[in-house]
Amino acid sequence: MREVTHFINGERVEGQSGRFGDIYDPNTGQVQGRVALATTDEVGRAVEAAKAALPGWSAMNPQRRARVLFNFKRLVEENMDELAELLSSEHGKVISDSKGDVQRGLDVVEFACGIPHLLKGEYTEGAGPGIDVYSMRQPLGVTAGITPFNFPAMIPCWMFAVSVACGNTFILKPSEKDPSVPLRLCELFMEAGAPGGVLNMVNGDKEAVDAILQHPDIKGVSFVGSSDIAHYVYRQGAEHGKRVQAMGGAKNHGIIMPDADMDQVVKDIVGAAYGSAGERCMALPVAVPVGQKTADTFVEAMMEEAQKLRVGISTDPDAHYGPVVSAAHRERVESYIQMGVDEGADLKLDGRGFKLQGHEEGYFIGPSLFDHVKPEMRSYKEEIFGPVLQVVRAESLEEAARLPSEHQYGNGVAIFTRSGAAAREFASKVQVGMVGINVPIPVPVSYHTFGGWKRSAFGDVNQHGPEGVRFWTKIKTVTERWPEGDIGDQSFIIPTMQ
Ligand code: NAD
Repeated sequence: MREVTHFINGERVEGQSGRFGDIYDPNTGQVQGRVALATTDEVGRAVEAAKAALPGWSAMNPQRRARVLFNFKRLVEENMDELAELLSSEHGKVISDSKGDVQRGLDVVEFACGIPHLLKGEYTEGAGPGIDVYSMRQPLGVTAGITPFNFPAMIPCWMFAVSVACGNTFILKPSEKDPSVPLRLCELFMEAGAPGGVLNMVNGDKEAVDAILQHPDIKGVSFVGSSDIAHYVYRQGAEHGKRVQAMGGAKNHGIIMPDADMDQVVKDIVGAAYGSAGERCMALPVAVPVGQKTADTFVEAMMEEAQKLRVGISTDPDAHYGPVVSAAHRERVESYIQMGVDEGADLKLDGRGFKLQGHEEGYFIGPSLFDHVKPEMRSYKEEIFGPVLQVVRAESLEEAARLPSEHQYGNGVAIFTRSGAAAREFASKVQVGMVGINVPIPVPVSYHTFGGWKRSAFGDVNQHGPEGVRFWTKIKTVTERWPEGDIGDQSFIIPTMQ
């Protein structure tokens, strides 16, 4: 059976704990490999390797570090097919979508290739008599990233590409559900010319995460996953004196105005709600049509469109989406569908009990659609993270906009309209971090920044873009003067520039 190891100091390292997690093929429900789960000591070994690599890597000039990232980009492109197949076999997303996962990671690598430009500090000549002030951005030191199952290529790249380009060394703790692509990325990064110890990986569960959060030599931690764990990581990391950013769950709304192009809206939302079996933090699982006519037209068209979707194994080139990641997750999603029924929502399409011929043991769920969902329902308030679209009807834009603004999550939101004025007002007022205007999945490009509000993100600095550089560096400000001879008095008052 295939075994996924740790990766420390430039090489694969077998686990010592004797504890393993199963890696499933969600298409078949069969165990296809196992992953070593690290002890606190094994995390400590990765930290030692990252510490040893730090002086050389942080002192290397930024352009030379960037060249490693250029090489890495090329190697990932050359290995795109292999990576996408591996990703798809452990996650269950279709191959084309798996390539998208790798590509969105590469976008951040491309951004990181230009980071030397953003590491330049600020300079003020003559801030006082003979006094100049300058600032510089310096790496934090040894850093770490803890990532979720749903983007096993993109999210590790969000973190390590920016962190190492800034001169840090890094320890990745990927999801134990699909760790093979992260391991390959670490190997390719070494092949690209990085010295051993710059990028390490430990696999594991809570024990490894706690070891990272408590280790005194890890200075910054980035986390992406569900909100309760994000909150825990944020609190624990802060308690141990670390800089922490922790992205959590989501429940993104799509507001459909009466003047929207309904054909286009239905095409957009069917992909955003059901693509990747709804396992995206920027999926669009809540549609909010404004006005009864809009709602009736939307629900009817969406039922027709959703019924046409082809659910298939992840290597089926005609499948719109594949299985969800695990049996436990399928059960969870199906229990939310039951909850919606029990709460009185109108279940128009029921994807429970979906069986794919020849793959009866796979974790498939058909598309589900609820109408007349109410804001007070628990199935609306919580994240389902599956192929389930909930329609909440609203009478006005004001009422519609209140829903995402008052929701506990605030990751993404979209508005579909032909009115620039309505869209502009909405974008300005809505209490959500990423907004799409006639764009159903508004994931910002890599040189902008990614991050939600409220329980979708703890901490105040986003992923990638200039914000990412701020997160992975600390600023130092130098005030200097070069007096010639004696410049006079001692001063006992705070210097001012009067
Ligand atoms: P998860 O929270 O279960 O796991 C994320 C990471 O935390 C994994 O590495 C896991 O090993 C670790 N972990 C799990 N339980 C832990 C515990 N008790 N203590 C310490 N660490 C623990 O999330 P997931 O199921 O892998 O991913 C799906 C979630 O991630 C969804 O909620 C989704 O919305 C969210 N997500 C958010 C974003 C974002 O940017 N906001 C992006 C992608 C996914």
